[in-house]
Amino acid sequence: MDLETVRSNLERIAAIGADPEGGISRMFGTSFIQEAQPVLQEYFESCGMETWVDSVGNVHGLLRSGKKDAQEILIGSHYDTVKQGGMFDGLMGVIAGAEAAREFHKENGSLTKDLHVIATNGEEGNDLGGTFGSRAMAGLLDVKSEAYLEKAKAFGYSKEDLCSAVLDTSRAQCYLELHIEQGPTLDKYKEQIGIVTGIVGLRRFKVTVHGISNHAGTTMMEDRDDALTSAAQIILMADELARETGHHFVKTFGIMHIFPCTVATIPNRVEMVLEIRNEDEKLMDRFMDIFTQKALQLAKVEIEPIVAKAPVKCSAEIAEITEEICKEEGIRYRIMPSGATHDGNAMALKVPIGMIFVPSRAGISHSKEEWTDWKDVYTGISVLYKVIKKLESEETLC
Ligand SMILES: [Zn+2]
Repeated sequence: MDLETVRSNLERIAAIGADPEGGISRMFGTSFIQEAQPVLQEYFESCGMETWVDSVGNVHGLLRSGKKDAQEILIGSHYDTVKQGGMFDGLMGVIAGAEAAREFHKENGSLTKDLHVIATNGEEGNDLGGTFGSRAMAGLLDVKSEAYLEKAKAFGYSKEDLCSAVLDTSRAQCYLELHIEQGPTLDKYKEQIGIVTGIVGLRRFKVTVHGISNHAGTTMMEDRDDALTSAAQIILMADELARETGHHFVKTFGIMHIFPCTVATIPNRVEMVLEIRNEDEKLMDRFMDIFTQKALQLAKVEIEPIVAKAPVKCSAEIAEITEEICKEEGIRYRIMPSGATHDGNAMALKVPIGMIFVPSRAGISHSKEEWTDWKDVYTGISVLYKVIKKLESEETLC
């Protein structure tokens, strides 16, 4: 694989949507998305693939094996970015797939399965929901909701567009994605590759803490029932509990509203949103049981579930193959969950998925400061290529 080709193509395509204030703003629904599509198509063609853009803006490239009823290996990632995002988030996985196809194309005739590279649209958070392109392919969009269809119309998509993007995965063996870690672990431990075991599940709860309002000057400390003080105790208790739980368990209170929120009144109510993420649903159940019990001991509290997304498992077989390759090549690797959502979440409902991470410098992403060293990009792409090579030569999977 020619590493200079990798670098020049990544830099060239990443420049679409370059923000004058720094970073890349190739967001879903902007003209930069339209601008990137023919560029990606031309690039895919230069790698030997047939190419098309589907009805929701996913750009496809297909390298045919020429074998009748051949299985298909899907390789993808997204080409949209957040506002002032980095150049590797998403696009690196697209380039990785295309450059792997270029290699197989050069080896003319050796391919036994079709390679299908997909640059997805709207993976980052947007008004039609994150992982839009991959959810469209997996048939997960809420096409029965009039409100959703109305929103989609504003982006130029009809119901027909949303429905016809569904991908036929009957011949697909698996979906593979190379992505930046978007966390600090690989960089911190100087590891080159993350082999992803699964994408964590997520649950959110509205936590309402009650107290009694009174005058902030005349009410002595021993006579108070301050909802905010109770909320603070609950937050610290949850923090400690999450640390004790271990196994990559994380908790966040990202939203807090204080009532009545005036300078001279003791708060009578605090509404917060607790988010927990983990790969293991049982661990999340256990955390919530203990959290609820302890919170009730600390204050008058109501806890109401508002969001629940199940964890997604990556294929153990693909992870094993990836590990084997890392061992053979002397690559330092870590087996880890993904704390962030990816297109793999949607694709996993259709086919076994495999995900590979490369380090994010200082764990920074969704920022113009995002960076991955080129040597790590090359390592990631070459590992992905070797995984494809291995899967491509195997009869069946999973
Ligand atoms: Zn991404």
